[in-house]
Amino acid sequence: MDRITIFDTTLRDGEQSPGASMSVEQKLEIAAQLARLGVDVIEAGFPISSPHQLEGCRLIARQVRGPAIAALARAVEKDIDCAADALSEAEHPRIHTFLATSPLHMEYKLRKKPDEVVEMAVRAVKYARNKAAEVEFSPEDGTRSEVPFLCRVIEKVIDAGARIINVPDTVGYTMPSEFSDFLRAIMEGTPNIDKAVLSVHCHNDLGMAVAAVRAGARQVEVTVNGIGERAGNACLEEFVMALSVRSDILPYTTGINTRQIYNTSRLLSNTIGFPIPRNKPITGENAFAHESGIHQDGVLKKRETYEIMTPESVGRDASLLVLGRHSGLHGFKNRLSELGLSLSEEEAKKAYVRFLEIADRKKEVYDDDLYVIVSDQLGHETETYGLDYFNIQSGNVAVPTATVRIADGAERHEEAATGDGPVDAIFNAIDRALGVQTKLLEYVVQAVTPGKQAIGEVSVSLEIDGRKFVGRGASTDILEASAKAYVNALNRWKAFQSVRRGDDESNDVV
Ligand SMILES: [Zn+2]
Repeated sequence: MDRITIFDTTLRDGEQSPGASMSVEQKLEIAAQLARLGVDVIEAGFPISSPHQLEGCRLIARQVRGPAIAALARAVEKDIDCAADALSEAEHPRIHTFLATSPLHMEYKLRKKPDEVVEMAVRAVKYARNKAAEVEFSPEDGTRSEVPFLCRVIEKVIDAGARIINVPDTVGYTMPSEFSDFLRAIMEGTPNIDKAVLSVHCHNDLGMAVAAVRAGARQVEVTVNGIGERAGNACLEEFVMALSVRSDILPYTTGINTRQIYNTSRLLSNTIGFPIPRNKPITGENAFAHESGIHQDGVLKKRETYEIMTPESVGRDASLLVLGRHSGLHGFKNRLSELGLSLSEEEAKKAYVRFLEIADRKKEVYDDDLYVIVSDQLGHETETYGLDYFNIQSGNVAVPTATVRIADGAERHEEAATGDGPVDAIFNAIDRALGVQTKLLEYVVQAVTPGKQAIGEVSVSLEIDGRKFVGRGASTDILEASAKAYVNALNRWKAFQSVRRGDDESNDVV
C-alpha cells in the first residue's frame, strides 16, 4: 500500500483561524501531542511574520523529535533566512516556500509577469536548498492557475531542488472531481514530477475536503479539528479515518496512531477555547450517539449496523446513547439497566410511557431524568438529600475543616469534619452527617465555559456497598460544585436503593 505523508499545519494555517492564537508554550504542547499522534511533518509557523512566530518555531524545532519540522517562507531571501534560523536546531528541517501562480494573484498582488514569477520561484528554491535538506514549494492559489504555466513552474522548481510540490486550493474553491482532473493534468504535463512528492492543501469553504489522493497526491496538508483560515482546512482526523474506514477503495496508509485522535482534538479545543461542535465528525459529542430507536436497537444488536468505525478506534471509550423521543423501548430499558435501575417488564412499560411524555417536551433525556422517571413510576421522590449550606475553613497552615448541613426530607443533619484539603473535609463532613461509608474512586474538575467567570463542573465517582455511583455538580465555586456533586452521587445511591430488585446482578452504576 502507498503511504500518505501527513503534513499537519494546525500550528501555522490553523493558528490563522481568527481567535485561535496560541502562546509559544501552548504551541509546544500541541506539537508534542502531534508527535505522539504520529504526524510526519509539523508546520510550526511562519517565522518572518512576527517575533512570536519565530520563537514558537524555534522552540518546537529544538524540542520536538520524530516528525520533520517545517517553517513557511515567501519566495524571498529574508523570509528563507528567517525560516532557516528558526529551524536551525530541528532534527529534520523543511523550508516551505510559496509564490502565487494564478493570473489574478500575479497581476494584482505580485505585479509580476509570469516569466518573472518562474525566475523568482527557482531562485527561492535554490536558495532554500542551501539552507535546509528538504524544500517544499507551493504555487499559491494553485487551483486558479493555468495548467500549462503551473506545469512549467513545477518542472523548474523540481530541477532547482524542491522535493515536495504542494498544490494549494488557497481559496477553497475547487470541486473534488475537478481537483482530481486538475492534479492528473499536472502530473501528465510535468515530465519530472516523479522526482517530487505531490501534496495538496485544501480549505473547507465549500465543504470540500481532501479528494486528491486517488489522483496521485501522496502528502496532504491538514489541521486538527479542521481549524484554519476562514472556514478552515481539510481536517486531519476526518481524512485519516476516511482512509481507514474505506480502505477497500482507498488503499493507503499513514503513520497516524488513530487512538490518539480524540485526545489531540480535545487538547487543541481546550487550548484555543474553540469548543468541538456536538455534531462534528469523529470527535464531536454526538459522533457516536444514536437517537433513533431503530438505530439504537441496531447498535445494541450489532454495532456495525449503524457505526462505520468504533469509538475505541479513535480513542473514545464507548458510544453514548442519548435518549430522545425516537428511542425505542429496547434502548430505554438497556440504559436503565446500565444505570443499575432494574424494573419488571410491566414497570418498564409504564415508565417508558412516562419517558415518552417527558421526551416530547425535552429533546434529550439524560440519566438524571431517568432516575426521576423511574422513581416517579414507583411512587418515590428521587432527591432524598439536599445541600442546605456548607462552610469551610482552610489555608496553608490550618487544618481544613468543613461544616455541612444536609436536608433529608423534613430532617436536617449537621456535622463538621477535617480533611487533607477543603474538598476532602467537605466529603468527610457529608459522610458523617448522613452516616454513610463511601470510597471516592474519582474526582474530576473541568471548566464548562472559558474565561474567568467559568462554571466549574465537578464529577465524582463513589463506591457504596460495592457499587459505583457518579454525581455531578456545577458552580462558579469549585468547593460548592464538589459538595453538590457528592450529594448528587448519594441521591443516585438512594434512588437506586429505592428501585432495586433482588434479582439484579449488574455491578456498575455509571
Ligand atoms: Zn491555507
